[in-house]
Parts: sequence; structure tokens; C-alpha cells
Amino acid sequence: MGRPQVITGVEEIRRIVTDHRSAGRRVGLVPTMGALHDGHLSLVDAARRDNDVVVTSIFVNPLQFAPGEDLEAYPRNLESDVDQLAERDVELVFHPDVEAFTSPSAMTTVHVDGLSRGLEAVTRPTHFDGVTTIVTKLLNTVAPDAVYFGAKDFQQQAIIRQMVGDLNIPVEVVTCPIVREPDGLAMSSRNVYLSAEERVDALALSAALIHAHQVWDAGEHDADELRSELVDILTDAPGVRLDYAEVIDPVTLEPLKGIQTGPVQVVLAAFVGPTRLIDNARIA
Ligand code: AMP
Repeated sequence: MGRPQVITGVEEIRRIVTDHRSAGRRVGLVPTMGALHDGHLSLVDAARRDNDVVVTSIFVNPLQFAPGEDLEAYPRNLESDVDQLAERDVELVFHPDVEAFTSPSAMTTVHVDGLSRGLEAVTRPTHFDGVTTIVTKLLNTVAPDAVYFGAKDFQQQAIIRQMVGDLNIPVEVVTCPIVREPDGLAMSSRNVYLSAEERVDALALSAALIHAHQVWDAGEHDADELRSELVDILTDAPGVRLDYAEVIDPVTLEPLKGIQTGPVQVVLAAFVGPTRLIDNARIA
């Protein structure tokens, strides 16, 4: 087991990946912002299973943070990230310089309409343009056969699938399930911000998803009822300030109304103290 090669240059990673692909090796890319946890590593494991060569990108993308968000505070642990990737036999880490990868003279933004409008975009209106622009640059730079995203960021993976189709980007998009702490909290690099008390309060999100699942299984199939129960639970949850709780179609991301037969996805966002957390689950 070797240590991954850490590459910062666009031309260099492109050349290395081109050489692998010319030799018939399949390449998988896992885009991350670092501060790796088992959620990220589950994507790495999926990429490891499906591909001959795994590239993990580590780039805290300034374009996806709005002014006043946590860009400066966002955890950065390159050395320990590379250690964890070494244990997973990752060959390559792409870690571009912020200045080199996000030129102030750039004039192009990749914007996916429709799917980028509701949910996360209500509170974070510039977020997805930042994500899609940088993911496009990563896909153009690394040019992998497959790229791996987590269902944790449910709207993000839907937008990226749409973008890849719309722009004929020749890559397979793979979405991996959410990895949770033993008590149910969805793993997130932002969980390190939570105090001990907030860490307990944060369980309200996953508990609300479990509740929604149970209510569905008990026969409540009215999306409006489910939504208002979720809103009530999370509005009353101590230490939690609800941003949204929605019951949506997992493909169109449109809010569902009235009686449903499925598929049904529940998506949540809430502040616990100053930390904004998201979570979601397929309940039918
Ligand atoms: P991030 O570093 O937060 O940008 O996340 C990089 C990738 O890891 C994204 O595709 C996320 O959806 C995914 N991810 C983050 N947390 C989890 C989790 N708990 N389970 C599965 N995937 C995750």
C-alpha cells in the first residue's frame, strides 16, 4: 500500500489520468472538500470497487460559500486526509490551489435551472452555481470514467446528474447512500462545530426522518400531512431552528401534494446553534 500522489497542477493530473485511461484503466473521481469522515470514505470505497484508479479531489470551493458563511472556519486537514486515503489504497489526490483553480478573471458560471431553485437554494441562492461550476471544472480536468457523490447532499446529486446529461459530459454519475453515526446523525464535516449539547439537539433531524418513515408505514400517505407533522416536530425540537422540511419527488424535487403511492423523499435543513445541518431519507 503506497501513499497517494498529491497533485496540485491541472495539466499534471490531466496527463496522469490520460495515461491511465490510454492504458485501459478505468478511473473514478470522488470530489470532496476534505476533512474526510466515513461518509466521504464510503464514496472512496465505492470508487475503489468499480475502478482501477481512484482520484480524490480535496478542494474547499470558495464559489459555493456565500459571504458570511463558514469558508474561513471550514475544517482543513490535508495530512490526515491523505493518511486516510492511503489506507483506502487511493492512488491520486487532486488538491488544486484556490488561486489557480478559481481565477478572478473567470467569466463563466455553470447554472442548472429548475432543480437549483427551491430547497437549499432558498437559503443559499448562489451555492449550486458554485458547486456546478467547480464540478464541471473537476470533470473537465480529471476526465474520469465515473464520479461519486453522496445522497447526503440530495439536491446536489440531482443537479449534477441533470448537468452531466444536459452538457453531454462523458461520465457515469454514482450516488452512494448516507453514512450515519451510530446514533443516527448524518456524518458531516460540519458536525465538528457542534457543542456537546448541540450534538444531542442535532439528533432531532434523523429522528424526524425515522418518524416520517414510521408514519408512512403506518398508512399516512398524504404528503401535506407528513410535511406538517415534520414541521411541527422540528419547530418544537429544543435547540433546533428549522429552515425547511419538505416531502418531494426524488427525481423532479417538486413538493408532493395529497395522497402518494411513491416514490417519496423527505428533505430537511435546520440550524442547530449556528451550524446548518441537512439530512434526507427515501420513505417510499
Ligand atoms: P463535501 O466534502 O461535504 O463536499 O462532501 C463530498 C461528498 O461526500 C459529497 O458528494 C457528499 O454528498 C458526500 N458526503 C458527505 N457526507 C456524507 C455522508 N454522511 N454520507 C454519504 N456521503 C456523504
